[in-house]
Amino acid sequence: MATSTETYGFQAEISQLLDLIVNTFYSNKEIFLRELISNCSDALDKIRYAALTDPSQLDSEKDLYIRITPNLEEGTLTIRDTGVGMTKADLVNNLGTIAKSGTKAFMEALSSGADISMIGQFGVGFYSSYLVAEKVQVITKHNDDEQYIWESAAGGTFTITEDTEGPRLGRGTSMKLYIKEDLKEYLDEKRIREIVKKHSEFISYPIQLVVTKEVEKEVDVEEEVTEGDAKIEEVEDEDSGKKKKTKTIKETTTENEELNKQKPIWTRNPSDVTAEEYSAFYKSISNDWEEHLAVKHFSVEGQLEFKAMLYIPKRAPFDLFETKKKRHNIKLYVRRVFITEDNDELMPEYLNFAVGVVDSEDLPLNISRETLQQNKILKVIRKNLVKKTLDLISEIAEDKENFDKFYSAFGKNLKLGIHEDAANRTKLAEFLRFHSTKSVDEMTSFKDYITRMPEVQQSIYYLTGESLEAVKDSPFLEVLKKKGFEVLLLVDPIDEYAVTQLKEFDGKKLVCVSKEGLELEETPEEKETREQEAKEFESLCGAIKETLGDKVEKVVVSNRISDSPCVLVTGQFGWSSNMERIMKAQALRDSSMSSYMASKKTLELNPTHPIIKELKAKYAEDNSDKTVRDLTVLLFETALLTSGFTLNNPQDFASRINRMISLGLSIDDVEVTPAPVAEATPALEEVGGSMEEVD
Ligand code: ADP
Ligand code: MG
Repeated sequence: MATSTETYGFQAEISQLLDLIVNTFYSNKEIFLRELISNCSDALDKIRYAALTDPSQLDSEKDLYIRITPNLEEGTLTIRDTGVGMTKADLVNNLGTIAKSGTKAFMEALSSGADISMIGQFGVGFYSSYLVAEKVQVITKHNDDEQYIWESAAGGTFTITEDTEGPRLGRGTSMKLYIKEDLKEYLDEKRIREIVKKHSEFISYPIQLVVTKEVEKEVDVEEEVTEGDAKIEEVEDEDSGKKKKTKTIKETTTENEELNKQKPIWTRNPSDVTAEEYSAFYKSISNDWEEHLAVKHFSVEGQLEFKAMLYIPKRAPFDLFETKKKRHNIKLYVRRVFITEDNDELMPEYLNFAVGVVDSEDLPLNISRETLQQNKILKVIRKNLVKKTLDLISEIAEDKENFDKFYSAFGKNLKLGIHEDAANRTKLAEFLRFHSTKSVDEMTSFKDYITRMPEVQQSIYYLTGESLEAVKDSPFLEVLKKKGFEVLLLVDPIDEYAVTQLKEFDGKKLVCVSKEGLELEETPEEKETREQEAKEFESLCGAIKETLGDKVEKVVVSNRISDSPCVLVTGQFGWSSNMERIMKAQALRDSSMSSYMASKKTLELNPTHPIIKELKAKYAEDNSDKTVRDLTVLLFETALLTSGFTLNNPQDFASRINRMISLGLSIDDVEVTPAPVAEATPALEEVGGSMEEVD
């Protein structure tokens, strides 16, 4: 029966990637084998997992193995597995028409200097076969479909043909690489052994290499009468006792040589495992091209028994916060049998960067995805893994340079952890690092901050904002700086969520310096002056509130500014200006929530500032003066900006400023758009008087 061949075009980005792989000069080509073996191992994992709940899945092929066959005459290298195989749809989708996010990300990484050997991390490892092959043929059989052949010599297209004539696979995949003329070294047994040892030693299925051997064999002379240099002997037949003539000839046979006979590394005694072995194992389970940052290898005994290895990488993967993407970082084994790596229950999300294996003695082998979810044993394992991961982070923290690396890669995760993991909040807080008014270049921990607190200071102060630039000279810091109180500068959007959850550290309250009710530790004299000023400025506060109307909740005398005329603070439980900015940026927010949470603003006045003093005098003279009221609004709008808010209507603000500029340039007869607050725009000359004094 003739079968038809269908031709498909590679998806554009994949096609581009293939071009790059084929044409880039790159010498470390051997990694293709690691990628293909890793795919075999994944496919074997999948069928073994499916068979846990449905053993008949294995009927099509009982043995689970990976087999590498070099064929010198053909110039091909075949990598065969008895894994899950691919249906026709899988072939079309997974090998050519659907690009993963990693396709583009990998090309971008390459153009900014990444190495081709990083390909596995980006989820496009299969295409590395074109580093060494001019043509690739994938024959595959899935339990749910017929046997198919996928074939491509790159160049934009691939074909798929139903395979009705070739040898039956039973189940699994056989990849035949037509090795490029100048790369025949990859057909050499010795070279293959070396590559497998280097990159795939810890694959948990047997990797067989089909080796050819010349053996000497005795044959009866009667059967084969050709006389060469073989020595003819007379031997006695053991059964019959009759004498017969035999000769010895040379014959080539093939044999399967197992390349990875090591027992699983985690079952070994930690003191017997070398640093190189730890690193090689890490690379094999993580697809990472670099060494790990830290590792913990331990066993738990007692009511529950398991062995585990946990690694922390040096860098975050390119898609760490791609929320839809599931991480498969912790592999679960039960008594040395791989169960799954799709388990969300083994680690909380915020620690999803840790990579490793867990091998339980207690879980049942035939455990299914569903039962895994409520399993009590698993919950205890998880608790242990979290604790050990935090211990590992503590160990990293002992070395500043390493911790800096760790923190820049995974600091966000720790902050998420503060939010997610109430039980470990205190521990996690110890790892947090922030810039501060006393530590602008280097980040500081809460613990170090506390050692620098003056004796009178009771609370830990912080200010949130968009960037260090934006907050480091904020008016909110004025008095605190004068008092010698350090303020943490929180400029990562997630910081504010984290500190609001945290509330305190080591018994000291975390206080936001841009929110109302800031009670700064003060001397009795300071307190007295403040109370007196409050009385003195009571009427001004009332007048300004009247001018600003709904724009502010109230107007009070400030204890936190010394150089600026005024600031805007927000309610203790509402959003800070920074949070308001973040929420505004998230356009999808429902607006009822935001009007409820949106900052109720209090205007705080600096009673020692000349502007405020002059305003007080002006309001006392005539509290309906339009010019004064107009300037009050301008003062408010400026405070919005310096306090980290955004202007709802920048146009109004701009026209007010433009009028001042005209004034400064002594342009009397210029046409200026009137600002809306003052119904009748005051004549410019009128404004003049107060302006000059203000400066
Ligand atoms: P990744 O392994 O990260 O998914 P690859 O480019 O290496 O990316 O492989 C792409 C996909 O092709 C795999 O996810 C898998 O679905 C399929 N695949 C590749 N090799 C095999 C194989 N030997 N058996 C079954 N499926 C395979
Ligand atoms: Mg792969």
